[in-house]
Amino acid sequence: MSDNGKTRLADSAIPERAVTKIDSTQEPKTPQRVLCVNAHPDDQEFTVGGTVAKWARAGAEIITVVITSGDAGSNEHTPADMTKTELAALRETEQRNASAVLGVRETVFLRYPDGTLQPTLDLRRDLTRLIRKYKPDVVVCGDPTTRFFGNSYMNHPDHRAAGDATCDAVFPSAGTKFIFSELLAEGYMPHEVSRVFLHGSEKNDVWIDVHETLEIKVRALKQHVSQIGSWDPSEMMQEWAREEGKEKGLDAAEAFRVMVLKEDKTSEDSAREANHILADAKM
Ligand SMILES: [Zn+2]
Repeated sequence: MSDNGKTRLADSAIPERAVTKIDSTQEPKTPQRVLCVNAHPDDQEFTVGGTVAKWARAGAEIITVVITSGDAGSNEHTPADMTKTELAALRETEQRNASAVLGVRETVFLRYPDGTLQPTLDLRRDLTRLIRKYKPDVVVCGDPTTRFFGNSYMNHPDHRAAGDATCDAVFPSAGTKFIFSELLAEGYMPHEVSRVFLHGSEKNDVWIDVHETLEIKVRALKQHVSQIGSWDPSEMMQEWAREEGKEKGLDAAEAFRVMVLKEDKTSEDSAREANHILADAKM
């Protein structure tokens, strides 16, 4: 290839990859169907509970996916005589209760072991199956590239593995027919997700105002009794929401990095499509 050719290729490829399609000045419209994927019971409530509650109340259909059943628990609140199996069952019940408070339609558990999660092909296939089954326009998961938060919390390896496998399932697996072609035999056809909302990111570009649903988020969190005991998370959640909203002048927000994989149809696109259909019908 000539130097000229290289330059042309670079010019056409790189700007598209680097382009930002996010309008950070306004909140995105409510998605229709959301698949919210996290590693542990309570991850969803801590990170995106306000957003999930807001979208559910605005009519979005939310499916919660929990990859492990949290059977490693936390040493502090796990009774000494409790088995892993008992703890997993208890935590699934707590998650279902929390999901119900948020307004989630269905909660799915994949029952991978807690504490040793890896972004394996098996996990990617399982998540691809769920994306093809539920056909979400938006997938929510943790940012897998976040290794450290400040200088006191190292991101849990399960969180990173969950985010990684979810992003890989969204693209390219879910939309590509011949990746995991065994899923076709199960009846799961390709599906393209429009947007991925990554929480726990260091590069936020979308803010969801959650001041009206913060109380619901706290109520959902309180369902995870085996993890938080009688501790009231209200103050901490208000503080987190204030911190996340600060940059946008919001009292309470949850912030995301959003990947736009498919552009929304504009009203002009829809009108044009309708005209085509009309013209076809007349022929
Ligand atoms: Zn977690």
